[in-house]
Amino acid sequence: MAIKRDYYEILGVPRDASDEEIKRAFRRAAQRNHPDIDTSAGAEERFKELNEAYRVLSDRQRRTAYDMFGHAGVDGASGGGFEGFGGGFGPFGDIFDAFFGGAPAGTRGRRRVVAGADLRYDLTIDFAEAIAGVTKTVTFPTLVTCDVCGGSGGEPGTEPETCPECNGSGERRRVSQTILGQMVNIVACPRCNGEGRIIATPCHHCRGDGRVRQERTLQVTVPAGIDSGQRIALEGQGESGPRGGPPGDLYVVVTVREHPELIRRGTELYFELPVTFPQAALGASVPIPTVEGSEEIAVPAGTQSGAELRLKGRGVPKLRGSGRGDLHVIVTVVIPEKLGKSERDLLKQLNEVAAPAVLPKGGGPGLFDRLRDIFN
Ligand SMILES: [Zn+2]
Ligand SMILES: [Zn+2]
Repeated sequence: MAIKRDYYEILGVPRDASDEEIKRAFRRAAQRNHPDIDTSAGAEERFKELNEAYRVLSDRQRRTAYDMFGHAGVDGASGGGFEGFGGGFGPFGDIFDAFFGGAPAGTRGRRRVVAGADLRYDLTIDFAEAIAGVTKTVTFPTLVTCDVCGGSGGEPGTEPETCPECNGSGERRRVSQTILGQMVNIVACPRCNGEGRIIATPCHHCRGDGRVRQERTLQVTVPAGIDSGQRIALEGQGESGPRGGPPGDLYVVVTVREHPELIRRGTELYFELPVTFPQAALGASVPIPTVEGSEEIAVPAGTQSGAELRLKGRGVPKLRGSGRGDLHVIVTVVIPEKLGKSERDLLKQLNEVAAPAVLPKGGGPGLFDRLRDIFN
């Protein structure tokens, strides 16, 4: 038998935690670790472990036995492990009781409800749509509630019958002798999944599942400022649950197409603006791309290569809060690699009258600034 982790440690509660604290801790952890949500490796094992810890600590008798004898106390009590797991209804029965305020494990006649699966939809939108926000129509295959039986899974006009296996109690009891005396272990009835009733005449349309496969179409509102990798959660828009169980959620995972010229980092936009030496020296009005389209920007006389011209509030809208980021225009003075004859003549003339080069004061990122950035 593998080494088992401490149940209190699994739930993250102190040894003197109240019943209420244990319940709260389990609900929180179960929501986080549910295999529908947590798809990382070992999620199902962690979820089982969590369920097991909760089963023991939420039951006064078992908790006392566990406090006194550790895992041996509770393992022995149930005749070697918890047969409830994998007893035909999967390991996820108890979580739904916890979520829907149901009674703790072992209470008579409780109904086990299974929720529908969560769905993921990958949505690609244009750069401009991400900036302005957009409403998109999405169509996807899913399981919807059967409209013949209304989700019950039973043929209309027929009634569910009392489970012959458990006579309607929904549970199977097992009595065993332990060092602490007689212990009763209760698991859900495998025939009816703890419901106490079985569907004798399944609905002809959904074959008793209460759901049918169908394409669904939804309008999804994509907020302005969304970025690639972000997801929009649509609660209750996933698959319907079997036999009237609650629906799962739909997660729309967004990919934003890149702008051909602007580079986006969160709410900030960057553009590298190439200018000629005369434009930088004399000043010029040059076109730049913006979110709203092409626009003229004034490059002041004496602008250095690497200087930043910032257009405040012309970046991407902030997803939370108001306002927009900035558009950063980085000026690069381009030295021509090839010269025409008249260009060469003019530059020679300029060279004769030009003052020697002196590094600008605060004009742009100089060598010392760069070194400081590198070594700090
Ligand atoms: Zn049906
Ligand atoms: Zn039964």
